[in-house]
Amino acid sequence: VELPIHEAVLGRAAEFGDAPALIDGTDGTTLSYEQVDRFHRRIAAALAEAGVRKGDVLALHSPNTIAFPTAFYAATRAGATVTTVHPLATPEEFAKQLGDSAARWIITVSPLLEAARRAAELAGGVQEIFVCDGAPGHRSLLDMLGSTAPEPRPALDPATDVAALPYSSGTTGTPKGVMLTHRQIATNLAQLEPAITTGPGDRILAVLPFFHIYGLTALMNAPLRMGATVVVLPRFDLEQFLAAIQNHRITGLYVAPPIVLALAKHPAVAQYDLSSLKYVISAAAPLDANLAAACSARLDLPPVGQAYGMTELSPGTHVVPLDAMRGAPPGTVGRLIAGTEMRIVSLDDPGKDLGVGEDGEILIRGPQVMKGYLGRPDATAAMIDPDGWLHTGDVGHVDGDGWLFVVDRVKELIKYKGFQVAPAELEALLLTHPGIADAAVVGVYDDEGNEIPHAYVVRQASAPDLSEGEVMMHVAERVAPYKRVRRVTFIDGVPRAASGKILRRLLRESV
Ligand code: ATP
Ligand code: MG
Repeated sequence: VELPIHEAVLGRAAEFGDAPALIDGTDGTTLSYEQVDRFHRRIAAALAEAGVRKGDVLALHSPNTIAFPTAFYAATRAGATVTTVHPLATPEEFAKQLGDSAARWIITVSPLLEAARRAAELAGGVQEIFVCDGAPGHRSLLDMLGSTAPEPRPALDPATDVAALPYSSGTTGTPKGVMLTHRQIATNLAQLEPAITTGPGDRILAVLPFFHIYGLTALMNAPLRMGATVVVLPRFDLEQFLAAIQNHRITGLYVAPPIVLALAKHPAVAQYDLSSLKYVISAAAPLDANLAAACSARLDLPPVGQAYGMTELSPGTHVVPLDAMRGAPPGTVGRLIAGTEMRIVSLDDPGKDLGVGEDGEILIRGPQVMKGYLGRPDATAAMIDPDGWLHTGDVGHVDGDGWLFVVDRVKELIKYKGFQVAPAELEALLLTHPGIADAAVVGVYDDEGNEIPHAYVVRQASAPDLSEGEVMMHVAERVAPYKRVRRVTFIDGVPRAASGKILRRLLRESV
C-alpha cells in the first residue's frame, strides 16, 4: 500500500458522496463523506498557509467529536505527524508529550483550551494553537473551511514518513511515543479489512477514544475507509451509550472488557432496544470467555469476538473474523492476519519455539511493526530483535487450528512458590461472584518475601457486607491451591487507562 494515510482512508469518499460518514451521538449533527473529504483538504491548505510543514509534529488534543477525523487527515495531508493526546491529560502530562515529541502545533477544542495553553507554556516550542470550534485569539478549523490557499503537496514517502505518533497506554511504565509510518498504518488497515468488512448502511459506535490506536483504527480509519457511518460519543456513560445504540440503530460495537462487563451485568441494559446490533468485538485487555458468553447471551448475539494488538503493531495482528464468530473457540483473540508471522517462544529459554497448546511469549514480524520508539533507540532495540521480531511481552498459545489465546502479560504473571498465576484468570473468576462489581489482582510480596495474589474488589451496591473471607473462599473453591487469592482489599473503583486496561501499578503503589 503506497498511499499516505489520508488517501488510504478517504480514497473512496467521492464514491460514498452524501452518505453519512460521522454523526454526533449527542445532538445528531452529521458530516457526509463529501464534506469530510472537502473539509480536510481546505483545512490542510489553511494549516500549510499557517506554516505547518512536512515532518512537523502536531498534537491533536480532543475528545471524540465528529471533527476529530477531519482534523487528523488535514494535518497528515499538510505533511505533519500527528501525536494524539489524552483529552484529560493534565497540563504537566500534556507538556511532557509536547516536549518529548517536539510538537510545534496544537489542535484543541475550546473546553480544553486552557489546559492546552498551559501545556504549551510549560513545554515551549509550540508555535500556534488552533481551536476546532473557535475561541477568541485563535484560528479555528471552522474558519479554515473558507480558506482559498492552494492545497499543499508535501513530498510524502509513505514508507518512511511518520503519519502518527500515538503514545502507548502506560500500563507498564511511562507511555512511549510510537512512530508509525503511513505505510505501516495503511498496510495494517488493508490486512484487517477482510476480517472486519463493513460498508454503507452499517453504523459503528465510537465510544472508545480516537486518540488511542485501537479507536483510531477500529472506530475511525477502518469504518471510514469502507463507507460505514461512525456515530461519535465523547465519553463512556452507560445510559448514553445504550441510548445511542437504540436511537442510531448501531450495527457494530468495538469495545474493551469493562464495557462487555457492563453489557453482561448492568440492570439498565434491559431497558433499551439493542436489537440492531449484529456483533460486538472486544480488544485491548484480557476478556474472559464466560463474561463474553454472558454478554452475547443477554444481547442474543453471536459470541463476542476479540482482536489483539498493540500500539507498536499499528496496531493489529489477530482478529476473530466477523464471519467466523460463531465457529471460533471461546476465549480466543483471533487468527493471525495475512502477511504477518508469529512465533511463540519459551519464557525460560527464549530461543526455543513452542508447539500447540504451550504458553510462551508472543513474537510478531510483519509490515505493521513500528518504525521505532521516538528518541529511544535502546527501548526500540529491546523490543525488536535484529531479525525483525517484535517481542510483545504477552504470554499465550495457539490451538491446533491456529487460534491464539492470550493469557496475560509476562510482567504481570505472579510467581507463587514457583507456580505461575495469571491475574486475568483470577479477575475473571472474581467477576462471576454476584456481589462483585469489578476486580483487579496484582502480585505483592508478603512478609516472607513470597509473591502472592492480592485482589482489589469493588462490591456491588447490593452487597455492602461482602467479606474478605467470602471473596477468598469464592476463588479457593474454584482453582488449584497455588492460585488462591491470599489478600483482599475493598476499593471504590478499579483504576483503568482510557483503553480499558487495569493500571495495576497504581494499585501496587497504593499499598
Ligand atoms: P505500555 O506499553 O505503555 O505499558 P500498553 O501495553 O497497555 O501500555 P497498548 O499498546 O495500548 O499499551 O496495549 C497493548 C497491550 O494490550 C498488549 O501488549 C496486550 O497486553 C494488551 N491486549 C491487547 N489486546 C488484547 C486482548 N485481546 N487480550 C488480552 N490482552 C490484550
Ligand atoms: Mg505495551
